[in-house]
Amino acid sequence: MEFRLIDRLQALTAQARDDVRLGIGDDAALLAVPAGQELAVAIDTLVEGVHFPRGTAAADIGWKALAVNLSDLAAMGATPAWALLALTLPVQPAEAQQALVDGLADGFAQLARSHGVALVGGDTTRGPFVLSVAVHGFVPPGQALRRDGARVGDLVFVTGTLGDAAAGLQRLAPSPDPDEEKRRVALRARLNRPEPRVAAGLALRGRASACIDVSDGLLADLGHVCMASGVGAELVAPMLPLSSALLGCCDEAAARDYALSGGDDYELCFTVPPARAGEVQADLARLGCGATRIGRIVAGDGVRVRDADGQWLTPVRSGWDHFPDETARP
Ligand code: ADP
Ligand code: MG
Repeated sequence: MEFRLIDRLQALTAQARDDVRLGIGDDAALLAVPAGQELAVAIDTLVEGVHFPRGTAAADIGWKALAVNLSDLAAMGATPAWALLALTLPVQPAEAQQALVDGLADGFAQLARSHGVALVGGDTTRGPFVLSVAVHGFVPPGQALRRDGARVGDLVFVTGTLGDAAAGLQRLAPSPDPDEEKRRVALRARLNRPEPRVAAGLALRGRASACIDVSDGLLADLGHVCMASGVGAELVAPMLPLSSALLGCCDEAAARDYALSGGDDYELCFTVPPARAGEVQADLARLGCGATRIGRIVAGDGVRVRDADGQWLTPVRSGWDHFPDETARP
């Protein structure tokens, strides 16, 4: 059974790359790193019931498992190349198992193809439904976008819009109202099929002073940049980019809280010296995702948010943390 599944995965996800000297099928893959490039590697795990609700379509899960990893490479300014997939599947009837694997491979392959990523190996075991994907990408030496380069006076930007996925997560059931249902479907798509901002990450190379992808919520993730860079950030709440789908389904304060503290956006949050801001913004607009200025880097630490009238806001929660109790951290 395991080998049939691997065959299927291999057949369904085949993506040719010259630098894959030996792909799925041996004890290890053999890969040729281009001369003069640094290898950027990342791994992320999705657990059923934690990272995606039970009942999520298999193709969406396959897509998302790769997407969250490509988002990490995007945040480093790396060009994606290879992926490994460790799959833990519960025991179930062969037909259901095959449908699950076909769906996973289908969604995974769709995104892999659009970024030229080859699945070069993995592991398949039985247990609770968990997917771990590891990705590898290339970046010219010294050009990776890191978290520790933000400087006082830099402007803070974010690509796309924020908060949609978190709002989508709370809207499982279809709505009888057709307009509301249209918005819900749009929000759910942001949750289930995040678009990793790979092209934006490449465009930011050599220009952004720091970058992170927003996976745990803007406040938490920009907080990581501030911590690593030894600076603080001031955001302006009315500048947060919010989609019409999000604004159509809740009031502005709730939309703002989703944008600040909801997770799963997979947008890039980055800092740029003011002299470069215009050029960077124009380039990202050309790429389609756009970038919105949301604040600036200041001396100090932590992230603070001002309202239009200059009042400081207290967001509902600062972000997603799997181990909120420090003592429970592994
Ligand atoms: P080994 O026991 O030597 O680790 P496996 O039997 O686990 O080898 O896997 C056989 C081949 O299939 C390997 O090349 C491995 O990388 C690949 N493979 C196994 N599971 C997956 C998977 N879920 N996705 C992609 N490739 C896989
Ligand atoms: Mg194995």
